[in-house]
Amino acid sequence: MIDALVKYSRRMITDNLAFGTTGNLSVRELNLLWITPSGVPFDDVTVDNVVGVEIDSGKLVHSHARPSSELPLHLALYRNRSDIVAVVHTHSEYATVFATLGEPIVPVHYQMALSAYEVKCAPYATYGTDKLAHNALQTLGTTDRAVLLENHGLVAVGSDLAAAYQSALDVEWMARLLYRARCIGKPRVLTPQEHLEIREQFSHYGQHPQK
Ligand code: 13P
Ligand code: ZN
Repeated sequence: MIDALVKYSRRMITDNLAFGTTGNLSVRELNLLWITPSGVPFDDVTVDNVVGVEIDSGKLVHSHARPSSELPLHLALYRNRSDIVAVVHTHSEYATVFATLGEPIVPVHYQMALSAYEVKCAPYATYGTDKLAHNALQTLGTTDRAVLLENHGLVAVGSDLAAAYQSALDVEWMARLLYRARCIGKPRVLTPQEHLEIREQFSHYGQHPQK
């Protein structure tokens, strides 16, 4: 678990999802979460400075460093959604453009239909606060896999670290596409019905055993 957290921390830089110390990652292991340290560049995250926190009590149980300032957000997500095993928070550029507008990322490509109809934007709150955690959780709802934080960035969740990370990459790709399309015209937005049909089509996408 901790090794994977370190590996994905490195990828945040190489995949252009983060610069400097912006963003943070965590993963759930039983009643613990492992989270990146606060204010430490992703290249400097190691197995020794990730922080272990008890999810129920919020008590630090393994901490040679201070945990991410967004610990309240990560705790709220794990406490309220038992399906979430990993959380990836970024200030990735194009997703954050939409967050500054307070606008959802609407579906303009079928690839987006892997998740909810659109990526909604949670109302603004100061970073690191319980209010931000509350707003993010309310807007994410019970099934969505990603949510924008107004004037801040993106939170993606998943059933493991690879899934949450891929969700962050997908949303950033989608935001970039939408931004670019809007620069030269008015992209057609997929309808909710089209979204449902794409999801049905995806249910048998890829390599399935031959019947
Ligand atoms: P940390 O370095 O404390 O994780 O903060 C980065 C961030 O993105 C806060 O929202
Ligand atoms: Zn942030």
